[in-house]
Amino acid sequence: MNQKQLKKISKEILKEIKKHQYIVIFHHLRPDGDCLGSQQGLKLWIEKKFPSKKVYAIGSNENLFDFLNFKFDKIPNDEILKESLGIVVDANYSNRIVHNEIILENKLKTIIRIDHHPEKDDINYKLRFVDFSYCSSAEQISHFIYLIDKKSIDTKIATFLYLGIYTDSGRFFYDYTSSRTHNLVAWLFTSNFDFFSLHKQLSKRTIAEVEFNRHVLSNYKIYKNVIYYFLTLNEINKLKINETASNRVDFLANIEGYDIWIFFIENKDGTIRVRLRSSEKDISVIAKEYNGGGHKKASGAIIYKKEDIEEIVKKCANLK
Ligand code: AMP
Repeated sequence: MNQKQLKKISKEILKEIKKHQYIVIFHHLRPDGDCLGSQQGLKLWIEKKFPSKKVYAIGSNENLFDFLNFKFDKIPNDEILKESLGIVVDANYSNRIVHNEIILENKLKTIIRIDHHPEKDDINYKLRFVDFSYCSSAEQISHFIYLIDKKSIDTKIATFLYLGIYTDSGRFFYDYTSSRTHNLVAWLFTSNFDFFSLHKQLSKRTIAEVEFNRHVLSNYKIYKNVIYYFLTLNEINKLKINETASNRVDFLANIEGYDIWIFFIENKDGTIRVRLRSSEKDISVIAKEYNGGGHKKASGAIIYKKEDIEEIVKKCANLK
């Protein structure tokens, strides 16, 4: 997206915000720092800029980053919904969105998507600010706010937006981190939010997590250039780790000779969550084969039988 297109879409989004008295912001399933930071940061900004509007951040952080005291709102009634602007952040397809029933039953007046996923979508969005050159949706929202009114940033808004940028860029590690990312972060820093406290909180580990790390590093499996681990429900219970802590695909990241790393996590309902990562190759093609999706180097899917694990590993090893 060039500067002209960016200014145009930002103006159009602002127009929609101005036009609606009620705004409902959605996040995606299995929330992460980006969808939560984008949702909460955008809500605070709209409320600050337009104090008479009512903004509903719906969903739950599912105990992720509880130290940030996210505020969620009750789903408004149908009368309000039919006058509302819906904003989906960090998600594309309806089956990835929490409280998608509101969207699927066409309860909203208008709906827009702000997202950095490359995929298409299946929702009749009025506007799409979709650009996968951004490291995160929070970077997109930061850019939007910067263009509309850069003086309106404050410590709370900056904390949430920075959470999204910092976590989704892998702490500025991934290659979609750009000079734009750093320029926007430099601007967020002008609010003097306490980034050091945030860094410390995000780096904290419990002894159970350390033990879990030890367990994974002692039991991972290898097939050619792929390193992977299948975490069963039994192990999750035995190691006393919660769902968030159990997803640590990064435990197997960046090991020389293994350019693809995968975590398979058994869910309570018997399905298996697949988290695929690569340092170079496009693993999203494999995720898509299993009805998943994501980015070139970070994708995911849900599978329904254990036999698919070996198949996925082999397919990944065959990627050119
Ligand atoms: P995760 O491993 O959950 O962090 O996901 C990595 C990326 O893959 C994210 O950008 C997700 O949007 C995408 N993704 C994960 N699971 C799915 C799925 N079941 N369907 C579509 N995309 C997914």
